[in-house]
Amino acid sequence: MREDQRGSVLDERMDSVRTGTEGDVRCGADSVSGSVSQRACVYCGARVVLNPITDAFHVVHGPIGCASYTWDIRGSLTSGSERYRNSYSTDMTEKNIIFGGEVKLEAAIDEIAAEHSPKLVFVYATCIAGVIGDDIRAVCRRASQKHPGTRFIPVQSPGFSGNKAHGYRLACEALMELMRPHSDVERKKGVNFLGDYNLAGEAWIVRSYLEKIGVPVISTFTGDSCHDSLIKAPSATLNIVQCAGSMTYLAKCMEEEFRIPFTKVSFFGVEGTSASILRTAEALGDDGCAERAKAFIATEEARIGPLLEPYRRALSGKRAAIYVGGGFKAISLVRQFNSLGMKTVMVGTQTGSSDEYEAIRRLVGADAVVLDDANPSELEKFMKEKGADILVGGVKERPLAYKMNVAFCDHNHERRHALAGYDGVLNFTEEIFSSMHSPVWEHVRRKRR
Ligand code: SF4
Repeated sequence: MREDQRGSVLDERMDSVRTGTEGDVRCGADSVSGSVSQRACVYCGARVVLNPITDAFHVVHGPIGCASYTWDIRGSLTSGSERYRNSYSTDMTEKNIIFGGEVKLEAAIDEIAAEHSPKLVFVYATCIAGVIGDDIRAVCRRASQKHPGTRFIPVQSPGFSGNKAHGYRLACEALMELMRPHSDVERKKGVNFLGDYNLAGEAWIVRSYLEKIGVPVISTFTGDSCHDSLIKAPSATLNIVQCAGSMTYLAKCMEEEFRIPFTKVSFFGVEGTSASILRTAEALGDDGCAERAKAFIATEEARIGPLLEPYRRALSGKRAAIYVGGGFKAISLVRQFNSLGMKTVMVGTQTGSSDEYEAIRRLVGADAVVLDDANPSELEKFMKEKGADILVGGVKERPLAYKMNVAFCDHNHERRHALAGYDGVLNFTEEIFSSMHSPVWEHVRRKRR
C-alpha cells in the first residue's frame, strides 16, 4: 500500500492491505495488538464448526460469557434433535480460578450424563481455564470411564492461544477423534459434504441436487449431522469440501488416515454450483452420474437465467465491498458480482490463505483493495474511498454499513434464507437489489440535507 493511501492503517498492517500489483497479502498471522480486529477467538472458531452437530452437548469450561458468546448464533437447521441449540457452562468464578475448576467441571459432566445419557459431549477450555491449567483431557478420560456409553471429547481452545483459524483446526481434530474408532469399515459409493453448516437448509439443497444425479450423501460436516451420521463418514469414497478455510484440514486428515480423496466445491453462484455438481459426479468416476449431472445443470441454468436477467440490468456497474470469514466465500462472491456486471472494489476476509488472496486478486480490478484481518476503521476508509454501494458481510459489519448509509447483505451464519444452489443465487441477487433500492436511503439523505 502506498504511503499516501495509508490513512488510518497501522504500520504493522501495511502488508496486509494491498492494491494493484503490490506484493502478496500478508495473512495467516495473529491479529496485531490494538488494531481492534473483526476476527473471533480460537474458542469461537472451534465452537462454530462443532455447534451444528444436532445431538451433541457443548460444555464450556470458563466464565459464563464464553458460553453466551457462541450460544445459538447460527441459522443451522436440523431434521432431528434440537439439543445443539443449548449451551452448557461451568460458570467459573474467582473461587474456581484460585483453587482450580476441574471439580466443578466433573460435577457438570456428571449432571449432564445423569439427566440426558448423551452420546457425544464436547468439553471446551476457554481463556481462564487455559491460564490456570485445568486439565480437561484428564477430566474427559475420567468421565469416559465413569459413563461408558458417552464419547467425551476435549477441545483445548483458550481464546488467546492463536486466531480463529486455529479453532477450526481444533474442531477438525475433535472430529477425527470421534471418527477414528469407526474407521475400519467397508467403502460404499457416496460422498461426505464437508464445510457446510446447513444455514437455512443449504445442506439439504445440495443433498437434493446430488441425490437427483445418483450421488448418495453419507455424512454432512457439520450441518444437520449427529453422532451416528458422523461415525459413518469413514465409509465414503469421496469428500467434497465447501468451506475450505474451516474444513480443508479435516479433508487432509481423512485422506491421510482413511484414504478418502477430496475435491473442493462451491455451491454459491450459478457458475460455482454447476461446476461443483459436475466435478463431484466426475470425481466419483461414474459415467452415468456425469451424464445425469450435465442434463440437470442444463435444465437448472435454463430455468434460473431468465429470472436473473432483470436484476443484472439494474445492478450492472454498481460497486460492491466484501468482508467475510473465509477466502472461499469471498471468491464465490466476487464471481457472483462479476456475473451481475458489478465491480468489486474492496475484498477482505478474517482467515483467507495466500492462494485464496491470489485468486481474489486475479478476479478483481487492479484498483480494488484486498485486505486480511481488517478492523472497522479500515473497512470504513476503503468503502468511502471506493464508493461502495453495498457491503456483504456478517453480524459485526452490519452496523458499520448502516452507519455509513451503505446497503448491506448478510452472508454469514446468522442468516435465515438460503444463498446456496440455483435458487440461492436468486435469493442473493434479490437481496442485493432490495437493499440497494430500499427507500430508507433516500429518506436518510433527505434528513441529512
Ligand atoms: S475464550 Fe477467551 S476470548 Fe474467547 S470468548 Fe472466552 S474469554 Fe473471550
